[in-house]
Amino acid sequence: MDGLASLEPDMYRVIAHDDGSEEVEEHMELMELAIQQAHLARPSDTAFSVGSLLVNGRQIIATGYSHELPGNTHAAQCAIAKSKGTQQAHLVPGAVLYTTMEPCSGRLSGNTPCSSRIIDAGIGRVVIGVKEPATFSNCQGVARLLEAGIEVVHLKILEEQCLRPNIHLLS
Ligand SMILES: [Zn+2]
Repeated sequence: MDGLASLEPDMYRVIAHDDGSEEVEEHMELMELAIQQAHLARPSDTAFSVGSLLVNGRQIIATGYSHELPGNTHAAQCAIAKSKGTQQAHLVPGAVLYTTMEPCSGRLSGNTPCSSRIIDAGIGRVVIGVKEPATFSNCQGVARLLEAGIEVVHLKILEEQCLRPNIHLLS
């Protein structure tokens, strides 16, 4: 990951400290809402519990959490799906996706990975709480987003809180 930071200095940023700035306060406030979503997911032995939030300006377009929608659905997938057909759907291109964990880059089930869904939806920036641990797969989600020209912010300040719904998978 640190390699990516040096390769993509403009597109990939790590925020590791709360400097009290308005930007960091806003990121933390919205990531805390995404963490609340993650806690709504039923704990699973085979998948991480993740929460997501789609935001444009101060407007929350949609929320999502792991397995919220029927099928083996992921948090970002649910937020994007729920945004469709809403009055805010036009705000999705250019929106910011907050997600407690790095979006997936490949799925054994053959489902479209969340990183592809994010790229296809025209989302402009993704704020992640934590990189996906290597428990199930070697996730390349951040790299895929950067390759597609999507800005990625890694808000490390709330990493522990983002991992908490998955503590049973990480011991
Ligand atoms: Zn996914």
